[in-house]
Amino acid sequence: MKDATPQTIYLKNYRVPDFLIDNTDLVFDLHKDYCRVTSALTLRRNPDSQNQTAALTLNGGSGLDLQRIERDGQALSQEQYVRTEDALTISQMPDNCVITTEVLIKPHLNTTMMGLYKSRTLYCTQCEAEGFRNITFYLDRPDVMSEFTSKLIADRQQYPVLLSNGNAIEQGTVDDGRHYVVWHDPFKKPAYLFALVAGDLSVVEDTFTTQSGRDIRLQIFVEQKDLNKCDHAMLSLKNAMDWDEQTYGREYDLDRFMIVAVDDFNMGAMENKGLNIFNTSAVLANPQTTTDAAFQRVEGIVAHEYFHNWSGNRVTCRDWFQLSLKEGFTVYRDAQFSADMNSSVVKRIEDVVYLRTYQFAEDAGPMSHPVQPDSYMEINNFYTLTVYEKGAEVVGMIHALLGDKKFRQGSDLYFSRHDGQAVTIEEFVGAMEEVSGTDLQQFRRWYKQSGTPVVEVQSTYNAEAKTYSLTFTQSCPNTPGQSHKKPFIIPIKLGLVGADGQDLPLNSKGDQSIVHPLSQATETLVFENISEPPVPSLLRGFSAPVKLNYAYTSDQLAHLMTHDSDGFNRWDAGQTLCFCVLQQLIENQIAGRELVMDKQLTEVFASLLSDHSLDPAMVNLMLQLPSEAQLHERADIIHVQAIHRARQFARKSIAQALQEQLLHTYQRLTETEDYAPVSQQIARRALRNTVLGYLMQIDNIGVDLAWQQFNSANNMTDKAAALTALVNCPAAQDKAQQALQAFEQQYAEETLAINLWLQIQATNAQPDGLQRIKALMETSAFSINNPNKVRSLIGAFCASNPINFHELDGSGYQFLQQQIIQLNDLNPQVAARLVTPLTRWKKLPEPNRRLMRDALQQIANQDGLVKDVREIVTKSL
Ligand SMILES: [Zn+2]
Repeated sequence: MKDATPQTIYLKNYRVPDFLIDNTDLVFDLHKDYCRVTSALTLRRNPDSQNQTAALTLNGGSGLDLQRIERDGQALSQEQYVRTEDALTISQMPDNCVITTEVLIKPHLNTTMMGLYKSRTLYCTQCEAEGFRNITFYLDRPDVMSEFTSKLIADRQQYPVLLSNGNAIEQGTVDDGRHYVVWHDPFKKPAYLFALVAGDLSVVEDTFTTQSGRDIRLQIFVEQKDLNKCDHAMLSLKNAMDWDEQTYGREYDLDRFMIVAVDDFNMGAMENKGLNIFNTSAVLANPQTTTDAAFQRVEGIVAHEYFHNWSGNRVTCRDWFQLSLKEGFTVYRDAQFSADMNSSVVKRIEDVVYLRTYQFAEDAGPMSHPVQPDSYMEINNFYTLTVYEKGAEVVGMIHALLGDKKFRQGSDLYFSRHDGQAVTIEEFVGAMEEVSGTDLQQFRRWYKQSGTPVVEVQSTYNAEAKTYSLTFTQSCPNTPGQSHKKPFIIPIKLGLVGADGQDLPLNSKGDQSIVHPLSQATETLVFENISEPPVPSLLRGFSAPVKLNYAYTSDQLAHLMTHDSDGFNRWDAGQTLCFCVLQQLIENQIAGRELVMDKQLTEVFASLLSDHSLDPAMVNLMLQLPSEAQLHERADIIHVQAIHRARQFARKSIAQALQEQLLHTYQRLTETEDYAPVSQQIARRALRNTVLGYLMQIDNIGVDLAWQQFNSANNMTDKAAALTALVNCPAAQDKAQQALQAFEQQYAEETLAINLWLQIQATNAQPDGLQRIKALMETSAFSINNPNKVRSLIGAFCASNPINFHELDGSGYQFLQQQIIQLNDLNPQVAARLVTPLTRWKKLPEPNRRLMRDALQQIANQDGLVKDVREIVTKSL
């Protein structure tokens, strides 16, 4: 996995493959410390290739120990092929032939978790994007789609369960207590969707009857001890299957659908055809060990991977520059699903907070890239928020521009026309364009131009003519490799709120909300018959992934918070008010002036707490001050300490001013029903725990409540919230230590709960954070080899504990640098992801700026840097 001179790959250099593989026949002979992989590839020349005499070049990593190679049953001599570090080239190829290779690989030594590897006692695979080339020699590119047959042979005792894609067509025993199963997948697929699992697994089973009346066998494979944590995933799967039939007309195709949970996994989950492999954290759920947030994450990820069966598997990507074709669309689909299963406004707000905090930061940083990148060194670095989250927003905008009916027609056309093909983003947009008659030429810039557009809005009211005008001016900041961007099509959903709180009619049809597709650099909209100056409600539902600025007064914001008919904008008005208040506090903190809390914000919060008719989910969201990470994204220069202190001051001031109401709300929301991860209960718990967070700011009162809640909680959401509250409270450190110990003992056998315990400590804002992290790394709760544990402890500390990570002596940066260098050798993908916090150095003041850059430079100077890490570090310096 060492790369001396990483090459940049360009979209413009795409060429069709010279060969196609009609059939792929694999035999996996699994042993304790090696696996023998025999592959027979039925090849033919691609009639579309420009070079009809080309040699055959198969991808193959340096870990493949080639034992044998044959063409149509004839062994090839050493002159007939060339083996390089990452390929196998065979010259003098006929137009049709079968190439057979036999290789030995060592899955138990594979720490990268790409290709075939071991997670504890289990054999499993991860092939997207380019892991299959570490299993056998292959045309490892998504536009080569083949029919796979896989025979798995292993010891029956140790590996009673042998799984691969498709349907099991044969099984039997071989000698010495070994057995085999043959799997056949009738659907052609690229190698990145191949999967294999072998191990001692238990299974939870159910069935689903499709709309055409076919019975599908549903299976979730887990370790025996986790059998009681599969119900939620199974229910989510059935809901997702039903929803995709109803909403997109998509039915499942194979006879069975399998999910396998593995402990060691780089990502959340993987949509391999018929055999999804999941990180345990994305599938296991149980009230005793799992928080509400994790329950909802399981629902979302199970649905996401299932939806890929159509948006990704049946219709796949031509090349990796098209990654957002499957990811942007599928994230959009899973967001629609979660919105339908829960509260759509709440889901929208959560998604937008995430996008604004992290994707906007990515868009403004050194790794900024378009939704369709035009080059990469390491494709694994482009599984990004931009490709996923912004890509989903782009699909959502197409939906908004076309309307429900045309959007569904466009997706139907896309699926039917391209079923079984590997296509491009262009084909998706083209189908939408064709059915709707809407010209999306300019809209396509969303895929090609990087950066977050900014829309400035100004208004004028003419009392005499009774007209109200809104002037929109759009721009987009320069990003690496891109300057002078052209105007986007920006769908602006808007309304005008009158003094009485009602939406005013916007046109002769009486519409109270319209979607205006902004297309010019500057445009003015004029509304007539407006008898009083209204308050504009702009970008309703966050109709485009832009930063929109309008100079609201705080009275106007308060008006929108109370009256806006759009739930998202009611919340957003509150956030804008919070940002203004915090911005003022931060400036005063930097200037050394006395901090004074804004009265209006406190009053707004008071009215939210006293109105029991409001939806607790919305109240909870509106009581959230923007996180430090969000404030970092909005800042030109990140003054870490000032931001932390200003925000803490605001929290404490609010808590002191509203102590009675907070206490009353906390008590009022005490749950009387049995625990269930349903949205109404989730909302009540979330609000109650937000209130607890405020009460912790007042010495004594909060500590007792949190301690009591910690000891009496019957679910992980309340338990973890109480533990977080205690750990972060300076006055509760004795109790925090007791609670941490009790938690650790109670959940000693529950890996995911222990990871949560690590994460709560990693984000503890009390002083000496780094010492605590280092101490935890020495315990058995941690392992550098497990991605979930690395993310829970190191990742969470560096990304979500700013006050400790950004210590003025640079110790946090040095620590992260050391971890990245260690992980560089173990797991390139995990190492590369950890670099992100260091890439923001240009936004920090001295001395942090210099210290952070030094840490990056030291990584860059390291010998043997993998291309994953090298690409990000080089682009950031
Ligand atoms: Zn996906």
